[in-house]
Amino acid sequence: MSDDFAVLLGLRPSTMGPEREVHDEAVRLRRLRTYLARNRLEPEEQREIIWSRFCALYLPATVDRFIDPPTVASDDPEQIADYNLHNAYSEMLVQVQHSPYFAKYMRTKSSNGKKLSRALAQRLAQRAATWDHRMAHPPPNLPENYHVSMATNACQLLSTLCTLFVKQLNHDVVPHEAREALMPYLITWARQHPDDIFGTICLRTWRLILAVGGSSTLSDFDMLRKDYKNWEVCGLPFCDSKTDLKVCARCQTVRYCSQEHQVRHWKWDLGAQHRQLCFTTQY
Ligand SMILES: [Zn+2]
Ligand SMILES: [Zn+2]
Repeated sequence: MSDDFAVLLGLRPSTMGPEREVHDEAVRLRRLRTYLARNRLEPEEQREIIWSRFCALYLPATVDRFIDPPTVASDDPEQIADYNLHNAYSEMLVQVQHSPYFAKYMRTKSSNGKKLSRALAQRLAQRAATWDHRMAHPPPNLPENYHVSMATNACQLLSTLCTLFVKQLNHDVVPHEAREALMPYLITWARQHPDDIFGTICLRTWRLILAVGGSSTLSDFDMLRKDYKNWEVCGLPFCDSKTDLKVCARCQTVRYCSQEHQVRHWKWDLGAQHRQLCFTTQY
């Protein structure tokens, strides 16, 4: 299943032959959406296994494709501009952003994590004015919440990245100009959507971006960062131990209070077993 996603994203060849590979970026995004909708019907633990394996094998390549996306076949300049921000690669990153492998990749010094965050912030800053206008005046040929949903995804991914980099939130993470351009839109959108997820995410992203290059303490985000890392508490479900944790040497995405709990989680029978989630990575 994780290989199917990789084939669809063009990250590995199809075993069914090159005619099964997708080359049109709009088709790729549409087909990915269908896959993801089907994937949502799988049990939670099954999805966790799929995302862990996908991230272990293909996350760096997915990040690189977003940073440097293939050209899109379109004669509509607006569509091309949207595509740089909203494509199959960003859609996939939104899906896996809370995987412990995502956090592991972002804390790897040689990763392109900050490059991803900068590209995302810059492209969102470039599209913000147009999207803002289109949220107020939805084009008749598109679903009504089309721009809100694109902006929700982009802001959510940006806020996850800022959270993971919260200890070093500077202009390497969100460039100065992108920060200045984005802040007014984030606060406007947060005010326009006080009761829904879009508004909540905009407010959260605004708070994080406000702190870029400044000295404000974001202790609540630091808690969240630790949560995303899946790091501060023993990985065995129901064990609250936070002392003397030792990392799983193979995947380095989880820590345990004792060897006994590591072994129990490896063969866990009340949910995903760690042996199904444990992969070595190149990062
Ligand atoms: Zn434990
Ligand atoms: Zn492991």
